[in-house]
Amino acid sequence: SDRKYDPYRPSSHVFDLITRDAKILCQELDPMPEEETRKLALLQRLSDIANEVFGQAEVLPFGSSGNGLALANADMDVCVFLNSQQMAEEVSPVEFVERIGDRLEKDNEFENILQLKRARVPIVKLNHINGIACDIGYQNDLAIWNTRLLRAYCRVDTRVRDVVVVIKKWAKCRKINNPYTGSLSSYAYVLLVIHVLQRQGVLPNLQTIVSGNGKIPYWDCQGFNRYFFEDIPNLARYWQQTPEAATQTVGELLYEFFRYFASEFRYASHVVSIRSGGLLTKESKEWTKDFTQPHPQHPQPQAPADDAPQSEEQMQADTRPIVKNRYLFCIEDPFELNHNIGRPVDRYSLFTIRGEFMRAAKILSKNGDGAITRLCYERE
Ligand code: ATP
Ligand code: MG
Repeated sequence: SDRKYDPYRPSSHVFDLITRDAKILCQELDPMPEEETRKLALLQRLSDIANEVFGQAEVLPFGSSGNGLALANADMDVCVFLNSQQMAEEVSPVEFVERIGDRLEKDNEFENILQLKRARVPIVKLNHINGIACDIGYQNDLAIWNTRLLRAYCRVDTRVRDVVVVIKKWAKCRKINNPYTGSLSSYAYVLLVIHVLQRQGVLPNLQTIVSGNGKIPYWDCQGFNRYFFEDIPNLARYWQQTPEAATQTVGELLYEFFRYFASEFRYASHVVSIRSGGLLTKESKEWTKDFTQPHPQHPQPQAPADDAPQSEEQMQADTRPIVKNRYLFCIEDPFELNHNIGRPVDRYSLFTIRGEFMRAAKILSKNGDGAITRLCYERE
């Protein structure tokens, strides 16, 4: 459709070279079994510690350690679940971070322990002396389910991992993979890849496929529907790739990804939505006005006991952290529909990120040899 009007679209020979180099990069970045072993050992260690601190607890990996999209030396995301309903209700996320953080401090096998109590999702960050960096979250069921959704997409087609690995590597090298500084998380980039692959007909919308011919069920998770079709070995009964989609090379898909976000996607009005298999408008979601809100994890500041005027210092200490919601780059979470995964992006970082999409599209459209290497040149 749009494709024949793209004057920059490279030849199939160029695509073959890009595909070859992308696959080489993917092999190089595949984690070694030895790394998996170290991660499992750390998981067991954290599980013992969580049990010691809270009684019955379960520690589950999520993010790239659970979805099959890890690069070598990726950090590990884990989540602690308290088995007792009562405990889970008593221990707030901030308290969890304090208690497990303080316990980890007592062990010299953990280093650089950080208690991030003010994050949207409070976590403890640490490095284990065996070389693994780890984030520890708490009672985050949705993270487990979005990890499983990404893993399911990954199993639909081997090209998903190939494309994601190159995009992750590129985003890291170009320094646009840090939500704390206004760019996007890896999770956001994976959602963007799934969106493009759905458009290309390489991936279905797993959230609307139902075995048999029933209605989409409602499976509640923290107030959101976590249903998706997960029986990938039997997917062919319900959905098939078009022959055209089946023959697209990794090189073509990478070029399409960058071309789409460099020149087709309408940042001002569109929302990327993998759960609806395409685009939504900002208006339909009422994602038109940035707003700030008090942090959900922090209680209202207490009114001072007497009427004495508060010092500047007291005022500062009482002020709850403010969460800034921006709608400049809109990427809908597949389950938490009111959550914009592109929220950290501001005017300045959007300009930088779009510049990087354009740079990448240009590199891939010039020539195939060495394009993947050039794509991933370290910035600065
Ligand atoms: P990397 O290998 O770069 O660490 P990753 O796949 O682990 O990549 P992260 O961005 O670290 O991706 O995210 C890990 C997990 O945390 C995601 O799979 C998702 O479950 C959750 N997550 C990350 N960012 C968000 C977000 N903004 N909103 C909701 N969940 C998120
Ligand atoms: Mg991670």
